[in-house]
Amino acid sequence: MILIEGRSAVVNDHKFSKFTCKECDGHNLVVTHVWSILAGANSERWQEWGPLKDNHHWHYEFREKIEAGGENEIQRGDFGAFEEDDSASEPEEYEIYGTGNDRENDEFFVNCENCDREIEFGWSQPDRRGLILPVEFSDFVPIESWPDPKYLDIWQQREWLQKGIIQP
Ligand SMILES: [Zn+2]
Repeated sequence: MILIEGRSAVVNDHKFSKFTCKECDGHNLVVTHVWSILAGANSERWQEWGPLKDNHHWHYEFREKIEAGGENEIQRGDFGAFEEDDSASEPEEYEIYGTGNDRENDEFFVNCENCDREIEFGWSQPDRRGLILPVEFSDFVPIESWPDPKYLDIWQQREWLQKGIIQP
């Protein structure tokens, strides 16, 4: 099959990027992780975020404490790349005051970097482990994904859930 030059270039361009935002044509996604720590009587809320790559790996480039009504101080740095499964890693310093391995109250979000649109996503392993699998990635396969908890209901309606997932 012969492709016309221009057409071929377009196809190749899309092949290099698994995500194209339907609103803004952006190609980049941002992962945000929000968690709380108990510091004495007070609870602190933190977030960190960074790019999600086409290979489903991500790393956090920014971190900030979420202040109620105050100015947030953003720290920039390399907080370590997240490989296939970060669950085995030692807790970082800021996590020591948290609830140990209890990640149930953590929240994860995926957004289009350009227009900030929320992108639905799942995980390659249960309990929010493994790789992040955005629904709008070109290689997304529902039955090979576990939904992030906030999308459980809508995935259930679509009958996207894998066999063996027990509903509460
Ligand atoms: Zn967008």
